[in-house]
Amino acid sequence: MRILVAGGAGFLGSHLCEKLLKKGFEVIAFDNLLTGTVENLAHFEEHPKFKFIQGDICDSVSFGVDAIYNLACPASPVQYQSDPIQTIKVNTYGMMHLLDLAKERGIPLLQASTSEVYGDPQVHPQPESYWGHVNPGGPRACYDEGKRIAETLCMEYHRTHGIPIKIARIFNTYGPRMHPDDGRVVSNFVCQALKGEPITIFGDGLQTRSFCFVDDLINGLIRLMDYDKTVPVNLGNPCEFTMLQLAELVLELTSSGSEICFNPLPVDDPKQRRPDISLAKSVLDWQPMVDLKEGLSQTIAYFETRILHKARAIS
Ligand code: UDP
Repeated sequence: MRILVAGGAGFLGSHLCEKLLKKGFEVIAFDNLLTGTVENLAHFEEHPKFKFIQGDICDSVSFGVDAIYNLACPASPVQYQSDPIQTIKVNTYGMMHLLDLAKERGIPLLQASTSEVYGDPQVHPQPESYWGHVNPGGPRACYDEGKRIAETLCMEYHRTHGIPIKIARIFNTYGPRMHPDDGRVVSNFVCQALKGEPITIFGDGLQTRSFCFVDDLINGLIRLMDYDKTVPVNLGNPCEFTMLQLAELVLELTSSGSEICFNPLPVDDPKQRRPDISLAKSVLDWQPMVDLKEGLSQTIAYFETRILHKARAIS
């Protein structure tokens, strides 16, 4: 069975490719390298069942594959807001091109959706039945509304053409291969702590997020692909932390002397976020296994090697 991973050179995409290869699948990673990198593929690029193709899902796509995972989209607020129109194109034109391929070949498509479809949620924790609280004209809308219309397109292709669709609503995920400059809170705090730079908390640091380690998330995606009902499923870790708690844990695990500084809160930054994962537990028999301390330790080890490697290259 040959699988297409759109966005296969990204943080999540590359982990997914690696796991699918381990399971014996042939994998094609398709990526425009806007935010993904070929370094992410280094561990398995020579694998006989792996192929990387550089290209953009916004152009037409044609592959002889048996299933599609769509992870193609800039995903951190800094990245998706740096080219908002491209973010919308990926979630409309790009999404339709992949859905047309799924329709033409009669194959399943798993869409990497997001907790951002819930916006700044007024229901807590968030179950899949919650319709969300999104500002359609705000700076996050290119991503939030982009992912919402992508879900709508998936549902309509399913209803109209009978394509097997799987929708994963992915909550904050972290781990090795996050890009050090993508601006996300875990990579920012870890890199700042390791370099002895100030830890930049946005706002008062009392906003919450729930962080899922990448291995757990990938296991959830693969289980969801095998689930036969077309309904959105939350995938994330339900343990909730404030950004202050996260900063303190990073400082403790890195033994860093970095100070904490407070910067303005970005516009429309959600105040709280925690997945209700009852559905994933019952229909996928899935729940996260790696706690934040363990996952952060692995992430810190990754960034330590990266930073050391860079320092050696410069000297
Ligand atoms: N954040 C922060 N300092 C940083 C980067 C992010 O305090 O250096 C905050 C951000 O304002 C948000 C949370 O951390 O409240 C998570 O941000 P991230 O960009 O990782 O993801 P989001 O869940 O907002 O998409």
